[in-house]
Amino acid sequence: MAISRASIDQITVAADLVGLIGEYTNLKKKGANWESNCPFHEEKSPSFKVNPAKGIYKCFGCGKGGDAISFVMDIESMGYVDALRFLAKKYNITLEESETDLKEEKAKQSEKEAVQIVMNFAQEFFKRNLTESEEGKSIGLSYFKERGLRPDIIESFGLGYALNEWDGLMKEAERKKHNPDLLEKAGLILKNEETHKTYDRFRSRVTFPILNVSGKVIAFGARMLGTDKNQPKYINSPESVLYDKSSALYGLFQAKQAIRVADMCYLTEGYMDVIAMHQAGIGNTVASSGTSLTEGQIKLVGRFTKYLTLLYDGDKAGIKASLRGIDLIVAAGLNVRAVVLPDGHDPDSYAKAFGATALAEFLKSNTQDFISFKAGLAAGEAAADPFKKAESIDSILETISLVSDVIKRSVFVTEASRLFKMSEEAMTESLNLKVFEKLRKPKPRIDQPPLDLPPLEFPDNLQTQKFEEKKSIIYDLESEIVRVLILHGHKPIEDQFLIANYIFEQLNDIEFKTDIFKRLMNEYSERLDFGEEMKTELFFHHSDEFLKRLVIDMCSPFQEKIMRYTERSFDEFADMDEQNVSKSLYFNILQLKKQYLLQEMEELRQKLENLVNEEEELLILTEIHEKKKIEMELSKELGSVMNHY
Ligand SMILES: [Zn+2]
Repeated sequence: MAISRASIDQITVAADLVGLIGEYTNLKKKGANWESNCPFHEEKSPSFKVNPAKGIYKCFGCGKGGDAISFVMDIESMGYVDALRFLAKKYNITLEESETDLKEEKAKQSEKEAVQIVMNFAQEFFKRNLTESEEGKSIGLSYFKERGLRPDIIESFGLGYALNEWDGLMKEAERKKHNPDLLEKAGLILKNEETHKTYDRFRSRVTFPILNVSGKVIAFGARMLGTDKNQPKYINSPESVLYDKSSALYGLFQAKQAIRVADMCYLTEGYMDVIAMHQAGIGNTVASSGTSLTEGQIKLVGRFTKYLTLLYDGDKAGIKASLRGIDLIVAAGLNVRAVVLPDGHDPDSYAKAFGATALAEFLKSNTQDFISFKAGLAAGEAAADPFKKAESIDSILETISLVSDVIKRSVFVTEASRLFKMSEEAMTESLNLKVFEKLRKPKPRIDQPPLDLPPLEFPDNLQTQKFEEKKSIIYDLESEIVRVLILHGHKPIEDQFLIANYIFEQLNDIEFKTDIFKRLMNEYSERLDFGEEMKTELFFHHSDEFLKRLVIDMCSPFQEKIMRYTERSFDEFADMDEQNVSKSLYFNILQLKKQYLLQEMEELRQKLENLVNEEEELLILTEIHEKKKIEMELSKELGSVMNHY
């Protein structure tokens, strides 16, 4: 999907960052910036800053930063293109897209939109029935009240009621001039194959709208309230253009923020479990309602956290579902734990019997890693039966063999051998056999192609890459010089001579070692050569998302990187930045040249050690000597620059 640069620019200009971010967090003005507690990590004092003039944000706690597009990607867990669409819609911008893509997309989009409209209509209708119709109030609402649901919870989950009529929804749809074909496509009405008569799918039931990640109603679950033995207790919408069962999770929209903050998600079974957990203040809960847990659902929640806790009933079916869930989650590469409520309780009944605090307390102290969980089941079943014991060890090893990471596998084996008091060697041997077996079989494909991910992987990648490379002083110095270039490069030193010109002059014979900085330097110098007026913002809204985030990260004030390698205090350096850019710049360029020399000398020394040809030895020694001389000159110069500060 190609979206034109012009459209992206238009979005960047139109996006009101303070307004956009303000929809998710409570921003307060502070000088030229706005700040709040970070929406991406838990904190007590605000370290999340927004700079509206530059159109960027940055958290000094967890490091997340970017522009409006990045923010939508992060907070809504969207891909790059989806984030652009999201913003375009919000600010009424028509995206320029390539022609063929556009046609297909438009046809699909317009059908989806049409079905969405009748879905929204149905949701409104069911909601109104619950609170305004006599039948809804006396049957539906009183059922929810009996279950102890608070009005705000009924509202936030959009609960409703379908009347005890064959055509309640159809009649209302007719009045509102909705197309019956669309009602059928949405799965709201059914057609009798013989008589060709249509009728409402949901009748005499309370309704639970199922929302997608961005809060749109895509399907319904409905619970029967009568005593008709021929009817199933729960029914669900069929799949449709909006609803793909295997990749929707009940409650995710309401839970996503809490999941992100807690960096953990409870997975339960039913609508009422999710609602009870939310009401008990444990908002990071979702359910795989209408289907048993699928890979698609695990992937979906994996966009928000890598830590899942299964919370199923302690009955046979619940345990079986837990065991299946564990294997699926482990195979998807996420971390799984499990907790079972006592005595056939579900979250709803437990919270009602002992209170919300007790529920939270119970979950906290009874959550187990999957090995202890499985071992505990075996112990309960037949502790004394050696066959049963062997069976459960086998089952645990089976699960561990799904873990792709070797180190994780070995940690789990150690844990299992401790629990079962078995030799670790024997277990490892048996495990390796299983792993080997799996390798021989063709692997079932778990990975679906990514939807529309940006060209480079980030920001997780970016973070780790950054932290790894942070160790290198060369990386830090290059980053610092690039930072000055981007922040101050366009400012003149005198007349037409810019700071950027100075930097390129000084670095004339040098190529940066870090690839991304090399790319940045080249791009800057090229654009400068073409007479483009260079501005900081050009890079803050660069079309390369990876590069953009890196630049915003680097250029956020109060970098502490460089400080670690000098004796300068934090404040001294912060001051220096604005006032003494040229001086600190010179210092850093000298420092960088020195570091390159040191590295080259080290390489030469290593070459010397592995030398076979003696003739070469003298050459290399001379080379080292030459470099040493330059290095001393540089050190002297560095010393005198330091003294001038
Ligand atoms: Zn943060």
